[in-house]
Amino acid sequence: MAEIPKTMNAVVMHAPEDYRLEEIDVPAPAADELLLRIEAVGVCASDLKCYHGAAKFWGDENRERWVQPGITPGHELVGEVVSGAPEALANHGVEIGDRIACEQIVPCGDCLYCQRGWYWMCEPHAMFGFKTYHGGMAEFMIVPPNARAHKVSKDVAPQHAAFAEPLSCSLHAVERAGIQFEDVVVVAGAGPIGLGAIIGAAHKSPQMVIALDFDDDKLALAKKCGADLTLNPSEVDVYEEIRGLTGGYGADVYIECTGHPSAVGQGLNLLRKLGRFVEYSVFGEDVTVDWSIISDDKELDVRGAHLGPHTWSAAIKIIESGVLPLDEICTHQYGLGDVQTALDQVADSAGSSVKVSLIPGL
Ligand SMILES: [Zn+2]
Ligand SMILES: [Zn+2]
Repeated sequence: MAEIPKTMNAVVMHAPEDYRLEEIDVPAPAADELLLRIEAVGVCASDLKCYHGAAKFWGDENRERWVQPGITPGHELVGEVVSGAPEALANHGVEIGDRIACEQIVPCGDCLYCQRGWYWMCEPHAMFGFKTYHGGMAEFMIVPPNARAHKVSKDVAPQHAAFAEPLSCSLHAVERAGIQFEDVVVVAGAGPIGLGAIIGAAHKSPQMVIALDFDDDKLALAKKCGADLTLNPSEVDVYEEIRGLTGGYGADVYIECTGHPSAVGQGLNLLRKLGRFVEYSVFGEDVTVDWSIISDDKELDVRGAHLGPHTWSAAIKIIESGVLPLDEICTHQYGLGDVQTALDQVADSAGSSVKVSLIPGL
């Protein structure tokens, strides 16, 4: 194994729109920590929102600041274990040389949520790349004892392996939908999370998975990810199409992955009575809908979804199986020095990118 250098390149967030590539010391792992050589880190829409200073991250008059200035961003990470004491290796069930992906949340283990097994809602909510722990936009990263590490095969390209994080989140949204074999499932949005929801929904084998997006290229990719049917709302009346396919009733399940307020009302309208609405997105503004559709009209189940608890082994298994068009999902890879270009690429929603990744080795 290559020797571990003394210093490394790392992206450091100082303030909104002030992220710098810096040369800093390679961290030395404590007795209960591992050192990871980062192979790839995906750039998430949340990284972009954080970069632009969204109140959810940097706080406002109603909310405390959640991110820590001085931290290295990056939570969709995969790397090789290059150092760690026997106790730390045993704690994570890994050996030197293994490739692991870590869940983004580092649960405290002590709060009410952790105690009850709901670790993904952990109250302090320490997360790689945002709070308490440096993330993967660096050559090396420390894995603390409470991290949740998962082995990933080295046969998979690094950026594909790092897709385990968004895919695990999508699979959780799919679990929340409680999909049954007879269901017609509509997934709104065919970005990284929507594609993952399509993949997960298709793996549940319902009657039909329908993908909605305004971009025909993304819809073509949605088909390769398992969508039975794709509809572009700018070309067809989605409401009429889905009524036509369901004997006039509407869809059983709607999974919202666009973050656009209009997709919320659309979902309420597309669902049949007693349907299930899963919300994954984070919105930049308040969303207004007629709540009587949820109550009196349709008696809907509306369920939120956050992170990807208990879905990582499934996500990694699907990635390793080779069934996904991962070369087409992971469209752009950049070196750490190009973090700005990578963020701009994610920001360009009309552009050709799906999943943008940083590869420290590039
Ligand atoms: Zn993410
Ligand atoms: Zn906790």
